[in-house]
Amino acid sequence: MSNMPVAVVTGSNKGIGLAIVRALCKQFPGDVYLTSRDPGRGQAAVAQLQQEGLQPLFHQLDIDDLQSIRALRDFLKEKYGGINVLVNNAGIAFKVHDTTPFAVQAEVTLKTNFFGTRNVCTELLPLMKPYGRVVNVSSMVSSSALGGCSQELQQKFRSDAITEEELAQLMSKFVEDTKKGTHEREGWPNTAYGVSKIGVTVLSRIHARLLKEQRAGDHILLNACCPGWVRTDMAGPKATKSPDEGAETPVYLALLPPDAAAPHGQFVSNKTVRAW
Ligand code: NAP
Repeated sequence: MSNMPVAVVTGSNKGIGLAIVRALCKQFPGDVYLTSRDPGRGQAAVAQLQQEGLQPLFHQLDIDDLQSIRALRDFLKEKYGGINVLVNNAGIAFKVHDTTPFAVQAEVTLKTNFFGTRNVCTELLPLMKPYGRVVNVSSMVSSSALGGCSQELQQKFRSDAITEEELAQLMSKFVEDTKKGTHEREGWPNTAYGVSKIGVTVLSRIHARLLKEQRAGDHILLNACCPGWVRTDMAGPKATKSPDEGAETPVYLALLPPDAAAPHGQFVSNKTVRAW
């Protein structure tokens, strides 16, 4: 088993994920795994970084596929005995003008952004080593979508007592409500991406709370963040930040020094804790 520290970034064959891998290759003292659901796209991204003189490693990971997540889990457990840094970056968004029915957009978006990310956490968080750092890439859109929820839903999503099961049930209810055409009457905002990212931010708050309760001596820090508006395939060429600039806040959270006690369980943008 290797004693080398190890960092893993999901959805890192392009966009912000690739930029996070680039920055970690320069700053993280250990092995850095670029992961991709498609090995061809992943290897091409590795080759791109190699041309820049960097040495990322590759492992396949499709966060929609439990078998794929478990294969990565077993590999990391066997080779490194755990994980030092996990960045949950993989995500999808339908384009604004996409004509796919809203209920389908809701199901597909929640499947990857919330349920996929949750499955990665279920399988990989138990592997986090002492002083580990977990970064979940959410979005400012989670905050605006929260503001668009009914008072009752806002209270639930801001609660310090909500459980992971309750959150997952609410995320499933959103999808079901969109199928019935009742989501707005039920207090949901009209954004599937926004609701999926509410899920990511609230999941982060729950997991941070559990780490504090169950692994207090391990000094693990877990946060959600927004990278900003970043020029990628998702956000388009008009966005204000380059991918490398978008990587700055996630990388800051991934490399919080061992003596840091905060932030933990926070929503962070531009390296600043935001109110939830
Ligand atoms: P992007 O360029 O579209 O990249 C998304 C990455 O996620 C790609 O590598 C994609 O892989 C991967 N991915 C999608 N579904 C996956 C799955 N099931 N399993 C594994 N990987 C999967 O988007 P981005 O702008 O870099 O976004 C990265 C993260 O930042 C996302 O979580 C996004 O919501 C968030 N974010 C972005 C912005 C922005 O302005 N860009 C703002 C706020 C938050 P493929 O190449 O195989 O599709």
